[in-house]
Amino acid sequence: MADYPDFEQACGYGSVTGIGGANCRHSFWPFIEGVSERTYTDAELDGMKPENRPKTVFDGREYDDYQATQMQRRIERTIRKQKRRKAAYEAAGLTEDAQAANIRLRRLNEKYHQFSRAAGLPEQRERLKVLDGYRAAPHGQSAGNAGIGRPGVPVQIGDVNFSDRRAVMDQMDAAQTETAGLEHEVNYTVTTDGKVWRVSGESGFVDPSTIPSGLTGSYSYHNHPADQTWFSFSAEDVRFFFESGAAYAKASDHLYEYVMERTADTLAVSPDVVYHRFDEIYWSDAMRLAAGGMINADVDAYHTVMLRLSKEYRFFYERRKRIDS
Ligand SMILES: [Zn+2]
Repeated sequence: MADYPDFEQACGYGSVTGIGGANCRHSFWPFIEGVSERTYTDAELDGMKPENRPKTVFDGREYDDYQATQMQRRIERTIRKQKRRKAAYEAAGLTEDAQAANIRLRRLNEKYHQFSRAAGLPEQRERLKVLDGYRAAPHGQSAGNAGIGRPGVPVQIGDVNFSDRRAVMDQMDAAQTETAGLEHEVNYTVTTDGKVWRVSGESGFVDPSTIPSGLTGSYSYHNHPADQTWFSFSAEDVRFFFESGAAYAKASDHLYEYVMERTADTLAVSPDVVYHRFDEIYWSDAMRLAAGGMINADVDAYHTVMLRLSKEYRFFYERRKRIDS
């Protein structure tokens, strides 16, 4: 991680006046003068330009060789997530949900096969295995969490004076402490009526939309388990943030904690528009920066997207290294 320049600071990435901003005539590609070290020859740089890289077309989208390997990794991760979800439904006795999850799993396996073939990439079946499997036991196992409930079922765990921001933030901190090291996601939400909710999820997935109090103006925290995290919010997280009308959302993994917060200037955009924009920025900016060696795709791709997305839609976003990591 230390090998990558801090381009946020160095180039003002994401700000209106910086690289990619309204007044900026630089593109990220292929080399930001004076910032990155010149480690490639002109010929090598030409080879890295999007137009000169081998192309794969799949489902109407074009992938160069680098993007194709990233896409393959992404499908693998989704398959592992889906396997855990299916197992969780089975463990909870939710037969219909398990069947639906199984159908989606089959489609994903098929997509993985088709995509790998189209891109000429070998299939990496060992990457599709869920090593530790799903263990039902961790639900409710962290200190004081007895009766945590089935996945997806919201449980009211307390009350707080909602007008006392400090008290609300204390709930967020407590949630972060309580979920440390868990292998599945848990969402803690404080709604404006002062109720504190906990919704337990599966490994890479939690669905707080079933909380009975209105989510508008709510504060939430959820954990990202170490083997699932992309070290920032996901497209689904941001979609839910816009869809629910939440005021504040925090998430963290073992290395970073990150916050998004609605401000007076935050644009009212459709959750689907935000979701698709996330994807667009991921495949353009983030993947180009990663292919050019400017960022580490695993650690900084989603963060790069969030920096840009938060500027475009004018919400507050910040990621910090965890002091305890
Ligand atoms: Zn998340």
